[in-house]
Amino acid sequence: MVSLQINRECQFNRRVRERMPKIFDRLDSKKSKDIRVLGNFVSIFCRENHQAETKYTFPIKDDRLRHSLGNKDLILCPDCQKLLNHGIAKLLLCPYDPKPMCKKCPTHCYAPGYREKVREVMKFSGLYLVKHGRLDLMVHYLF
Ligand SMILES: [Zn+2]
Repeated sequence: MVSLQINRECQFNRRVRERMPKIFDRLDSKKSKDIRVLGNFVSIFCRENHQAETKYTFPIKDDRLRHSLGNKDLILCPDCQKLLNHGIAKLLLCPYDPKPMCKKCPTHCYAPGYREKVREVMKFSGLYLVKHGRLDLMVHYLF
């Protein structure tokens, strides 16, 4: 069961990589905004919870994606990099037009484990921003 999931995840990643140049054609202003929120929230979560981890600059190969993420480098631990990658890919591959808010979506497109993780990130960082009076950065909860 677990190996099957991992296998599916690998296939998914390969499919995404092959389609990568094209996948960014799917960026519209709504998805762009959602990706910015996701990037911000994962960054806050990683900064506040993963101090002990070694961190790297999140690789961004596409200028459109860089723009969506606010034209800045995101410094994340490997786990958070994986989560953000997964989230960006799922956002871009969303079959709905217009894309609904993920928390209201009938389709559970996240791989097992990632959905719980991203909800934890959204909840933590959402509360963090509320506590620090940064409602301007919140826009809305995605999850
Ligand atoms: Zn992290």
